[in-house]
Amino acid sequence: MAADLEEEVQAIDKSLLECSAEEIAVKWLQANDLQKEVYQHLAYYVPKIYCRGPNPAPQREDMLAQHVLLGPMEWYLCGEDPAFGFPKLEQANKPSHLCGRVFKVGEPTYSCRDCAVDPTCVLCMECFLGSIHREHRYRMTTSGGGGFCDCGDTEAWKEGPYCQKHELNTSETAEEEDPLMQLPEDMVARAYNIFAITFKYAVDILTWEKENELPGLEMIEKSDTYYCMLFNDEVHTYEQVIYTLQKAVNCTQKEAIGFATTVDRDGRRSVRYGDFQYCDQAKSVIVRNTSRQTKPLKVQVMHSSIVAHQSFGLKLLTWLGSVIGYSDGLRRILCQVGLQEGPDGENSSLVDKLMLYDSKLWKGARNVYHQLFMSSLLMDLKYKKLFAIRFARNYERLQSDFMKDDHDREFSIADLSIQIFTVPSLARMLITEENLMTTIIKTFMDHLRHRDIQGRFQFERYTALQAFKFRRVQSLILDLKYVLISKPTEWSDDLRHKFLEGFDAFLELLKCMQGMDPVTRQVGQHIEMEPEWEAAFTLQMKLTLVISMMQDWCALDEKVLIEAYKKCLTVVMQCHSGFTDGEQPIVLSMCGHSVETIRYCVSQEKVSIHLPVSRLLAGLHVLLSKTEVAYKFPELLPLSELSPPMLIEHPLRCLVLCAQVHAGMWRRNGFSLVNQIYYYHNVKCRREMFDKDIVMLQTGVSMMDPNHFLMIMLSRFELYQIFSTPDYGKRFSAENTNKDVVQQNNTLIEEMLYLIIMIVGERFSPGIGQVNATDEIKREIIHQLSIRPMAHSELVKALPEDENRETGMESVIEEVACFKKPGLTGRGLYQLKPECARNFNLYFYHFSRAEQSKAEEAQRKLKRRNREDTALPPPALPPFCPLFASLVNILQSDVMLCIMGTILQWAVEHNGYAWSESMLQRVLHLLGMALQEEKQHLENLSEESVVTFTFTQKISRPGEAPNNSPSILAMLETLQNAPHLEVHKDMIRWILKTFNTIKKLRESSSTSPVAETEGNIMEESSRDKDKAERKRKAEIARLRREKIMAQMSEMQRHFINENKELFQQTLEELDTSTSGVHENRCPVISDAKLTALGPEQTRVAEHRQVVMCILCQEEQEVKVDSRAMVLAAFIQRSTVLSKNRNKIIPDPEKYDPLFMHPDLSCGTHTGSCGHIMHAHCWQRYFDAVQAKEQRRQQRFRVHTSYDVENGEFLCPLCECLSNTVIPLLPPSRALFNRLDFSVQPNLAQWIKTISQQIKALYLLRDEDCNSGNSEKMHQLQLPEGFRPGFKLKNPYSESIKEMLTTFGTATYKVGLKVHPNEEDPRVPIMCWGSCAYTIQTIERILADEDKPLFGHLPCRQDDCLTSLTRFAAAHWTVSSLSAVQGHFCTLLASLVPNEKNGNLPCILDIDMFHLLVSLVLSFPAIHCQDFSGVSLGTGDLHLFHLVTMAHIIQILLTSSTEENGMDQEDTNSEEEVAVLRLYKFLCQWTGSALKEISSGWHLWRNLKAGIMPFLRCSALFFHYLNGVPAPSEIQVNGTNQFEHLCSYLSLPNNLTCLFQENSEILNTLIESWCSNNEVKSYLEGKRHAISYARESNKLIDLPDDYSCLINQASNFSCPKSGGDKSRAPTLCLVCGTMLCSQSYCCQTELEGEDVGACTAHTYTCGSGVGIFLRVRECQVLFLAGKTKGCFYPPPYLDDYGETDQGLRRGNPLHLCKERFKKIQKLWQQHSITEEIAHAQEANQTLVGIDWQHL
Ligand SMILES: [Zn+2]
Ligand SMILES: [Zn+2]
Ligand SMILES: [Zn+2]
Ligand SMILES: [Zn+2]
Ligand SMILES: [Zn+2]
Ligand SMILES: [Zn+2]
Ligand SMILES: [Zn+2]
Repeated sequence: MAADLEEEVQAIDKSLLECSAEEIAVKWLQANDLQKEVYQHLAYYVPKIYCRGPNPAPQREDMLAQHVLLGPMEWYLCGEDPAFGFPKLEQANKPSHLCGRVFKVGEPTYSCRDCAVDPTCVLCMECFLGSIHREHRYRMTTSGGGGFCDCGDTEAWKEGPYCQKHELNTSETAEEEDPLMQLPEDMVARAYNIFAITFKYAVDILTWEKENELPGLEMIEKSDTYYCMLFNDEVHTYEQVIYTLQKAVNCTQKEAIGFATTVDRDGRRSVRYGDFQYCDQAKSVIVRNTSRQTKPLKVQVMHSSIVAHQSFGLKLLTWLGSVIGYSDGLRRILCQVGLQEGPDGENSSLVDKLMLYDSKLWKGARNVYHQLFMSSLLMDLKYKKLFAIRFARNYERLQSDFMKDDHDREFSIADLSIQIFTVPSLARMLITEENLMTTIIKTFMDHLRHRDIQGRFQFERYTALQAFKFRRVQSLILDLKYVLISKPTEWSDDLRHKFLEGFDAFLELLKCMQGMDPVTRQVGQHIEMEPEWEAAFTLQMKLTLVISMMQDWCALDEKVLIEAYKKCLTVVMQCHSGFTDGEQPIVLSMCGHSVETIRYCVSQEKVSIHLPVSRLLAGLHVLLSKTEVAYKFPELLPLSELSPPMLIEHPLRCLVLCAQVHAGMWRRNGFSLVNQIYYYHNVKCRREMFDKDIVMLQTGVSMMDPNHFLMIMLSRFELYQIFSTPDYGKRFSAENTNKDVVQQNNTLIEEMLYLIIMIVGERFSPGIGQVNATDEIKREIIHQLSIRPMAHSELVKALPEDENRETGMESVIEEVACFKKPGLTGRGLYQLKPECARNFNLYFYHFSRAEQSKAEEAQRKLKRRNREDTALPPPALPPFCPLFASLVNILQSDVMLCIMGTILQWAVEHNGYAWSESMLQRVLHLLGMALQEEKQHLENLSEESVVTFTFTQKISRPGEAPNNSPSILAMLETLQNAPHLEVHKDMIRWILKTFNTIKKLRESSSTSPVAETEGNIMEESSRDKDKAERKRKAEIARLRREKIMAQMSEMQRHFINENKELFQQTLEELDTSTSGVHENRCPVISDAKLTALGPEQTRVAEHRQVVMCILCQEEQEVKVDSRAMVLAAFIQRSTVLSKNRNKIIPDPEKYDPLFMHPDLSCGTHTGSCGHIMHAHCWQRYFDAVQAKEQRRQQRFRVHTSYDVENGEFLCPLCECLSNTVIPLLPPSRALFNRLDFSVQPNLAQWIKTISQQIKALYLLRDEDCNSGNSEKMHQLQLPEGFRPGFKLKNPYSESIKEMLTTFGTATYKVGLKVHPNEEDPRVPIMCWGSCAYTIQTIERILADEDKPLFGHLPCRQDDCLTSLTRFAAAHWTVSSLSAVQGHFCTLLASLVPNEKNGNLPCILDIDMFHLLVSLVLSFPAIHCQDFSGVSLGTGDLHLFHLVTMAHIIQILLTSSTEENGMDQEDTNSEEEVAVLRLYKFLCQWTGSALKEISSGWHLWRNLKAGIMPFLRCSALFFHYLNGVPAPSEIQVNGTNQFEHLCSYLSLPNNLTCLFQENSEILNTLIESWCSNNEVKSYLEGKRHAISYARESNKLIDLPDDYSCLINQASNFSCPKSGGDKSRAPTLCLVCGTMLCSQSYCCQTELEGEDVGACTAHTYTCGSGVGIFLRVRECQVLFLAGKTKGCFYPPPYLDDYGETDQGLRRGNPLHLCKERFKKIQKLWQQHSITEEIAHAQEANQTLVGIDWQHL
């Protein structure tokens, strides 16, 4: 069947290809009814091309469609071969000066914070780089797709609208020229024809709803072929869809994933092809399976012809888009065609049809036509306007469709509003001509129908569906914002009229919010259900900017402002109607004043936080003052209608509610109220909530008698009685009073005083005080920074943003703060300038309570440090604007004085009353404010004016009868010496001092006497100084103590993660100190030459090594026969040094690791934190961990940061991740050394002897398996002193032996990834390998950091290498002797061939250092049977020399010496001559294959450089093996390192001497090495080999500008799903591969599990460990194995020294080289896994992340 179909298809294809586009076009040109002709053509061919089988074949379809369908259209359009026609058009075209590039998902976009009219104006990367904004403050984001570059749009930019590229186009084009003029007339006609037909065809077929019929087309063949089409929705998850499909259409999971991915991307996909019944059956299964919980998936059975025509319809739209790209004229014609009204009148144009059908189209179709709109209608200035009008007229309908649609807004035509409304001229036009503002607001109100009886919004019991709809309807607020974002510079009467009409609608909206969600205090029982509050606040939050913008608009025109004010006032009065009705007013009287007010108690009646109408009025009132309208046109304002008590009533209730909540009176109302109060004050809402309530109080009070206001306030706070009735306060002191009630009252009094402070003190808004916007923002910043130094982003978060997302902070920050750059961790911080501290106001109204107390503490501390008194007096304030000037009188009003006096009296008679220190503190602050006020009045006194502010006089007067209380001043003097008020003394003293200053000021201006005696104060202050000094010292001592205590407890706690560096440092200090005490590491040795190995090895006296167990704290000496001590260690596979990342071990069970390839593709690294334990203590600890973990896993199935089943645990002291332990051993070599009594043989002799020994061993072994072969035994002459039967007694204690096996097995298990098997002969090989590899990594790190070889390793590494080397040297004692002997023989055979070992790697394929270590460490297995008197050291030395020689040959053979380039010195030293001779000698052996080199200088230089790493590694190795201290010369960097190394290693400085000294064997060896076939084929260029010195591996180079990476990633598409954009492009920092992470498409199977692209990549690239950069998130990802991972801060910082994880802030990011180096170092040091473990320990949520799917 399938084959048949295939054949049939091919036959059709062939016939189709015979079609001639030209001929068809000619036919069309002659046709009378073109539409009919074209339709017939399409009806016949489209079904033959599209939808020929179950799966689409896009390439074939495209090819055929171009040939048969589009080709003729192009011919027709051009009237000639389009291959000539289109280029001609393009040339003739005067290109637009608009860029209009449509953004791909993830593409970087740029906006200029200085010049963009609003944040939606963006540039593409190319335009940005060519624009002036590069040098400005810009913001970078990644596009979510859709939207286009605004380059060239003069309305979008205040400056620099063109980039260099698009600027060129502007000069030529006359603005208003009709682009049609550029086209020949006949072409214009043809274009109209063909565009009209094709566009209509596409629109008709896409909006077609019948299933068995086509619009205007005949069904040519009505076959029974259908598709079962699955559509996308936003309800079902990927998993649900995949699962359902597998069941319904019987496909594999992979196919199902494919279907689901396409459905998600394109919006639909056919999942079955066949006859109707077959498809219908699948449909019903899918519907049945998905209809249980939610609404079912949308599935439709469609005839294949319809699907075919729809596919082509989309293709046509794309084609139209590309054709109009050739010419602006064609574009205009298409716009005209699209907007032409059809026969059905209104809404019958093709564009209207598409728009109105939008929500019924699938995603893919929407994308295609939206793109066409963007490249046509929105690119043509004339038609953009016409389109905008169509869009505005359909606005209501489009929004309603969008509400019902479930697709995200980015897939809806409604989303185009951002492209239209943000163009200022269009927005203005739409407001005046289409009444857009009103339309938007009305549409919004229509969709929010839930109201209570008073007509207010009600969200109380709204359903999930309503919540969903509410979320969608919020986008309308966004539209309103776009419309308002650019403010008019000129007002026409029309605009005024339409704006005010919109304002009316807006007031209607706010009226529905005024008083919504009212609360009533719950008494007795706690509320049963938390009431819904979020919806109302969301609404408020979203509207905040709109409300602010409305005010901004009003501020621009006096007429508008006056009208708006009147309208708003009317609505406020409507809202308040009936507020004085009903009950009788009550009369309040105090201090001879009395006032009438209503009876109302916040704690008993309904109260609401939502008062947007009142708050808008408050805002407008301030504008009256700011714009001076209030002073210019008072007669036009309804000021006389204002009733101050009415104005303040609701805001005051709201503030009292906050106070009562704080006093704990509303506890039973639950969290919803607490949350509301929180948001009321929060930076996101406060500007149009809390702040405006304060303004409203200021407004009301400025028009009232302050005494009246204070009495009303007392009454609302329910405190009236306390202050109006003498001695009423005493009631609360009595024992019988409820403590809670006392507390409650105290808090209320404090809150009320705070409110007074705010009303009088908050004058930093322009219009209230005489300040400008800069002063306001400065003050905010000063107060934020008074709490502590802050990072840029923290400050931004603490400040309100305007509609352009600006806080205005940058303009003032330099004036108030200094910037401190970040270090390697942390971020840059702003610190308050010291001179700004005097502006600090403890009662700053935007402080939260926590912030206030933190700021207080910080400021007092600062003052103490500066040796000042600790008073925090109120700062001097700017004067009020005239409209608010009377507010200061509150301070000197009678009722205020009474309140202050009462509280002071409570403090004086402190035992008799309930009062609090906070209360007193606030009174003192108020007194301070009043004094500051008076002082300023006096200082600014002009000649003629009279001082009306006489606070000092009032507080000097004693109280009147009947109670005759002392004056406030007198009470202050009393309190000054009160012992219970120590903390406030400084403040009281400040008040008294200021009082005196004022007195003096008054004296100088008038003649009022001074009452105070100066001397008193002077004396006082000197006494205080002493006291202060003592206090300061005590404080310093306390701080130091605290610091130490803190450090100690930090050690014990999980402090590591926050202060890693400090912690590590401390640990290292600890380490040094313990080692220093117990073990004298570097015995002082005379200046004699130090030699690390060989018979001449420097003898070092043994030192006792005593160590302490971290678990039991017992000390023990490290000895051969005592209990084992162990170090916690972590073994891991590593590819850090790899030169070939693609190599993987195919079958670990059979792999032979004996020889390490020089590409070092996979090594085994061992690390340790250096913490020592008894082996048995560790065992017990580990068993406990294991048991605990098992219990835990049974219960919770949780992951931990370590994998116990794999032997992992955390070091009990430092929590460092470990998976085994290394035993501590004394230097081992000495144990096996015997007396060296004989003459030590030279290399040749030694090789001869060893070869004999080896031969003997082989013979003996053969004999073992083949006994009776005594003939050969006779041939065997055992070398002198060789006793092959001898068995050495193992010198180690049982416990040490056990640990040797434990660590050996662990190395084997991890290194090879196999099951542990202690008997396996490969165990010792792995141990030697790990020793060699670890030394190599450390040598590389030191070399890269340019550090000397010795003396700079941290103790933990030093300890680790010592133990590791000694362990590796001792491990043979627990392995099979014959196996180790066998290894030695094979290893040696690679250099000294024998007949037994064939097929060994050639010397080019052996890493010589690994070979050296293995040889030296396996050698004792043979040597222990040698009693000839040759020392072990001799053997070591000869082995070392032999390997060194081989390495020299290796280097010379692979050297890529270039003779040119380098200046060569003309020396011809001995070394150069010798190396040249050696090279020539090599040439002889290799024939002519070796490149000819004649410069000894170059060769020697090359050899030295090539062999250095090997020598350095060897020096480390022998140092740790034999314990000979390193000569001081190689502990520092300096010249002659080479010579010193050679000397330490017992090598001649002239390395080639090794060959001369051993000339007898030279020929044999070199011959055997060079005659190898592999070597030959290398020299003939047939294969590759590693050359030396190997370069260190680094992480990849990253670009300085982060947007380069974003751009790179946006061009990256998923490698598996043909050209799709990857959602989470992720860059491997090790090899530079870009991966498609965290997505179904790129999951692969690894060891039987599905893993994401990153995890899969780590297995080849990093042996399971990976370092990635998630480009979209700007986040580094560490992965280890399948279950472990963590995120790490990226090495990119903005100018403020902060990272931007998640790219939310959009500040330009640049590479911080130091931080990147730090990451690289983590990698090189193999600390990634450890880093992950620490991160996971610190943050348990990391453990739960599904790392393997990334
Ligand atoms: Zn651009
Ligand atoms: Zn441009
Ligand atoms: Zn700019
Ligand atoms: Zn112990
Ligand atoms: Zn540790
Ligand atoms: Zn992918
Ligand atoms: Zn990689």
